[in-house]
Amino acid sequence: MATIFSRIICGEIPSYKVAEDENYYAFLDINPLAEGHTLVVPKKEVDYIFDLDDETLSGMIIFAKKVAQKLKEKIACKRVAVVVLGLEVPHAHIHLIPINSESDVDFRKPKLTLSPERFAQISAMLQE
Ligand code: AMP
Repeated sequence: MATIFSRIICGEIPSYKVAEDENYYAFLDINPLAEGHTLVVPKKEVDYIFDLDDETLSGMIIFAKKVAQKLKEKIACKRVAVVVLGLEVPHAHIHLIPINSESDVDFRKPKLTLSPERFAQISAMLQE
């Protein structure tokens, strides 16, 4: 069965898109630690990030770099943190999180509750 991220990539499940190319898709995390918290996924469905072939993994980092540059440009933050957990969804992905301090990447913290309108605004802003 396809992962939830594959179903998002093919449009079967809606998402707030941030960027896309032939091989990768980026969209807003639905339970964000910060506004702009984005997930970068390869279209190729592989569970564990370090099981990706070298070409897909290196391309994913370069794609994530472009997304992170856009996040930094559009969202006030000191840095864009790069986090890989993969404990919940068995489809390799990178979290990109705008941060101002170390505590901004604490996944035990309550997540933000954003309205659909706010998610849509952030998604549109990041695609400008
Ligand atoms: P992890 O696999 O531990 O890196 O966590 C998976 C992440 O995917 C979590 O931060 C979830 O909030 C996020 N997530 C799960 N389902 C969706 C979805 N349908 N749309 C956006 N983000 C999602």
